[in-house]
Amino acid sequence: MSDNIALTKPVPLPDADSRIYWEGANEGKFMFQRCRSCKKAQFYSRSLCSHCQSHDLQWQEAQGLGKVASFSVIHRAPIPAFAGDVPYVLALIDMAEGFRFMCNVIHCDPLSVRIGSSVKVVFEERMGSSQKIPQVELM
Ligand SMILES: [Zn+2]
Repeated sequence: MSDNIALTKPVPLPDADSRIYWEGANEGKFMFQRCRSCKKAQFYSRSLCSHCQSHDLQWQEAQGLGKVASFSVIHRAPIPAFAGDVPYVLALIDMAEGFRFMCNVIHCDPLSVRIGSSVKVVFEERMGSSQKIPQVELM
């Protein structure tokens, strides 16, 4: 039985600051916050603006388009649940709306990913969970 637990990928636990993000993902929407005070986007979601500390934040839906800013190909699984995925790509994505998003580049040959590659957000379904996970794939 403990093997089953070890083979389960972590599932997000939405809190007050991230609930809209995770609910959006389940509806196929990639949500982020923009500050009404300084107009800057921020990601991940927080209770105040990481640029100017204002609490006047608003949720917006991103187009889901971005470019790879940096990435690494993972060859050693951090936990057993990811052993079947290696090698896979962990990347930082510069999204069109002006924020950076860390995720996996999925559905691709890891050797085909480049800095500057255009990507789009997709919503990964994980076995044993009803929570969809925002990821990206190459365009
Ligand atoms: Zn701000």
